[in-house]
Order: sequence, then structure tokens, then C-alpha cells
Amino acid sequence: DFDDDKGDYKIVFGDDIHYRYEILDILGKGSFGQVIKVQDHLRKKPIALKIIKSRQRYTEQARIEIELLKLFRNIDVENKYNIVHLEDDFVFRGHVMITFELLGLNLYELLKRNSFRGLSVGLVKRFSYNVLQSLALLAKNYVIHCDLKPENVLLSDTNLMSVKLIDFGSSCYINQRVYTYIQSRFYRAPEVVLGIPYTSAIDIWSFGCILVELYTGIPIFPAKNEKELINFIVEVLGMPPVSLIIQGTRSQIFFSDPSEKVNLLESNLKKAPGSRTIRSILKGADENFIQMIEGCIQWEPKCRITAINALKSPWFIENVETASKTTTRRCKISIEDITKHTPQLQKFIAGR
Ligand code: ADP
Ligand code: MG
Repeated sequence: DFDDDKGDYKIVFGDDIHYRYEILDILGKGSFGQVIKVQDHLRKKPIALKIIKSRQRYTEQARIEIELLKLFRNIDVENKYNIVHLEDDFVFRGHVMITFELLGLNLYELLKRNSFRGLSVGLVKRFSYNVLQSLALLAKNYVIHCDLKPENVLLSDTNLMSVKLIDFGSSCYINQRVYTYIQSRFYRAPEVVLGIPYTSAIDIWSFGCILVELYTGIPIFPAKNEKELINFIVEVLGMPPVSLIIQGTRSQIFFSDPSEKVNLLESNLKKAPGSRTIRSILKGADENFIQMIEGCIQWEPKCRITAINALKSPWFIENVETASKTTTRRCKISIEDITKHTPQLQKFIAGR
């Protein structure tokens, strides 16, 4: 079972962990355990502490998370690739614990606090650039994040205009893929669903889904199960190429025999295949933005844009401020909202 509390560390407010970290607040809870805000009495500053459940499966995966975060800490000494900074790791009362720099709200919380009305293009662009920098560094080092979603992208605590990537608890090296059941469903790439060996391109798929969600405020593929997910994708992209279907060990769950004319086995389409275009979902957004998303949301992993190339996209070359001015709608959170730095907004976004 994924969401049970078994193996969770018992949090007692005011208690000290490892004779050093005083528990202040709970920041998040996930499948792997809990993240709490603590006061580091040695360095005299608040930090984030991730407490892993005391079960073997989670402990082993935490070892990989720690190894990868240390790798990025060594490569990225200047901390410019927007990957959360790992400070320390230790075992306390049978739990693996990891300390991190303290970050702000995650992007899901940010969207929620604005009643899911989305962010301005200018702000989406800034956050995208940060995430792509992280993804480019990952891909260069043959690492796949495997759980890219708004909950795992956090506002920086010191610079509200930038975000950092967290949660390497599902990540792996390209040549050491262990799990086939990865990624959160809304952001799960088709090759993962179909059972095809995956690459860094699965992170780019998730990234494309996140771009749509940041702009519109709601997920592009909010599927209740994998069959519905495939249906939703078909509505946007049309039927997948036969060359993709025949590679999948799980394709027969979703599609009829590809030697005939391919059909969905359980068709629940509300719209004709390929008729719910990205353009129609993003109504009114600028062309470069639409093209960026179209480059990410593609059936064929090989056809998706890479992080390195996405960073060179014309979308980032056109002026951020102009773009945000022409497309900002009332109710969307904009760069101007954030740069004004009104105490109210600061409070709203920092959230704690
Ligand atoms: P899990 O693997 O259980 O999903 P995460 O590492 O994603 O664990 O952390 C769960 C949540 O805790 C995040 O979505 C975020 O809201 C919060 N969180 C994690 N790390 C930090 C941090 N460094 N600073 C502030 N909040 C954090
Ligand atoms: Mg997470």
C-alpha cells in the first residue's frame, strides 16, 4: 500500500531530532515519509528535514536519492542549476533523514492559492527556464527524475521569481531503471504506460504537462486510471504511431492488434482523436509558447525536444516582460504581482 502511515516517524512538536534539529512545522507528507521545518541549532537557521519511513524499500530508495543529490551538489557548486541543495544525511532512531535548504511553496500549492486560475505566460516562462536548466543537467548525467510534477517544483525561499527541483526519491540512471511503475499518473509518459524502455524524454513529457497546467491552472490529462489517460492523450494527439504500439509490452491492454487498423479497446472519447489541440487548450497564448509545449507532448519519445534544445527555443529569446504584458489576464499571477513584493503577496506566496 502506498499511502499508509506504517513506518512513519512520530513527530512531536518542540522535540529535538539528532540533538540538533528542533521541530517547528510540517511542510509536506508523501509516500516516502514526511518533510518538516526544523531549526538547526548548530547553524542557527531554519531548514527542511525529510524523514524517510523506516521500511527497507524506502530506505533503499533514499540511498539513491542521497547519492544523486550529492552528485549534483558536487557538479553544481555554484548552485545555478536549480536543484535543491542537500546539506546532510544521517540515521536517527532507525530512520534515514536528509536535511535540505528551506524552500517555499510547491507549484501545486501556488496554483491552489490562486483558485486554479493559472500564472501569466511571463511567470510560466521564468519557472520553465529554471526547470529546464535542471533537466538539462540531469540528462547530461544520464539521470531521469521520474516524478516531475508541480508538487516537486518549489519556489525558492530567497527569490520568489525562481523555482527549484526537488524529490529524487524515484529517480534513476538511464542504464539502471528498476521500476516500471513510475511517475504520477497525470504526468506519466505514454512509453511508461505502454511498457517501453524509457529515457530522459519521460521528464520532458511531464514538463510539457506542467507547462499547460501552470498556464491554465488545471492538469491537461487529469485521468483517474491509465485507460482514461490513454483516451485523454488520444483526444489531444490522435492515435499513436503503430511503430510505438508494437514496442510496448502492455499495448494490448489499450489498443487492438496493430497489424489491423489500430483501435482503442476501451474508447471513452469525448472528442474526436486529435481534435482537442494544444492550441485550443491554451486559447490565445503566443505561438512560441504553443510550439514549446507541442515539442514536449509528442507520442514518440525520440520526437520530443530535449532540455538543452528547449533552452535555446525562441520562446525564451523573446522578451519576457513584453510577452507577459500582452498575455497577462486579470486573475493570473504575473511577474508584476511578484515584483511589487507587497507584504500581502509575499505572505500569500510564502505561505508560512
Ligand atoms: P515525497 O518523496 O514523499 O514526495 P518530497 O521530497 O517531494 O517527498 O517532499 C514532500 C513535500 O514536502 C513537497 O511537495 C514540498 O511541499 C515539501 N518539501 C520538500 N522539500 C522541501 C524543502 N526543501 N523546503 C520546503 N518544503 C519542502
Ligand atoms: Mg514529492
